[in-house]
Amino acid sequence: MIEPVPRPGILDIAAYVPGKEHAPGVARVYKLSSNETPLGASPKAIEAFRRSAEQLERYPDGQAVELREAIAATYGLNVANILCGNGSDELLGLLCHVYLGTGDEAIITEHGFLVYKIQIMAAGATPVTVKERDCTVDVDAILAAVTPRTRMVFIANPGNPTGTYVPVAEIRRLHAALPKNVLLVLDAAYAEYVKRNDYEAGIELVSANRNVVMTRTFSKVHGLAALRIGWIYAPAAIIDALNRVRGPFNMNAPAIAAGAAAIRDQAFVETAVAYNALWLDKLTHALEAIGLKVTPSVTNFVLIHFPDVDGKRAAQADDFLTSRGYILRAVRGYGFANALRMSIGPEEANRGVIEALGEFMGKTA
Ligand code: PMP
Repeated sequence: MIEPVPRPGILDIAAYVPGKEHAPGVARVYKLSSNETPLGASPKAIEAFRRSAEQLERYPDGQAVELREAIAATYGLNVANILCGNGSDELLGLLCHVYLGTGDEAIITEHGFLVYKIQIMAAGATPVTVKERDCTVDVDAILAAVTPRTRMVFIANPGNPTGTYVPVAEIRRLHAALPKNVLLVLDAAYAEYVKRNDYEAGIELVSANRNVVMTRTFSKVHGLAALRIGWIYAPAAIIDALNRVRGPFNMNAPAIAAGAAAIRDQAFVETAVAYNALWLDKLTHALEAIGLKVTPSVTNFVLIHFPDVDGKRAAQADDFLTSRGYILRAVRGYGFANALRMSIGPEEANRGVIEALGEFMGKTA
């Protein structure tokens, strides 16, 4: 039978599988599987979203000026170097489609965010995966993997699902050693949670060079995951190339309005960051106290490693927690067979998981 066939390589891509949403038969469910904030969105963002419903018949501003100006004002950036996207996922994809093609290589790390690999392959290029060290990006391993075909390097900083952070000195060292025609993508989806605010140094790297970009999102600390808002800070030539291929109205009007209001409400962001810091610390210590290993995290989630007795403990714990209404994220697809990732949730959920995992560890000891 003759029928349309996808380009070579497309059917080799493993589609992104979101975390589970439901716990059948459990009345109260806490979804702690997608690194969402337990604090919701700023009331000012919600109000702006509602107001935008009054003009749904109109196309949005194709340049998303209000949102780009609000971002630029918040971080002291030039608005011309900012482009918004339908989640940072869209921007990561656009980068691959613009800078990669057949025969090119792009470097990703062992436990890197799955979207990179999908988009690299979708662009017809080859993902080259390098080892991490202690769940952290290893700059030397990346540099060792560079070949004349390398066109891009992806780093999530902080990483997902590890929650670890590469210090800016290491990022600078990596950038200095990369060929100038290799694009370094710093995916800073969790930047706001990093206490040291090192990501400002990432911004400096973008400003001072032609081959570094930083992507950011409103899905985490701003609590607007449903609206799909991401942005990229990049040199003018890169923004120009992305603008040529993106959808003409890739940002919807409610997202532009709510995003702008959210980023102007820095008091709300501070509250969310403080809540997270408090519970990141408490949760890490409590889980360690019941015999679990937690990768030190600087984000709004933790990676919990289970004792490797039979290789099945994480899966058993996942089922046990789900039966109690706590949905965590299995991370086998990220190279962790015996670990679960947990977002920091509302207080009662955090306490509930600690209690349930204490019981689970007691039972399975
Ligand atoms: N990068 C990383 C490291 C992430 O964890 C996520 C969200 N899971 C994204 C990018 C995508 O975020 P967005 O919602 O903006 O598409």
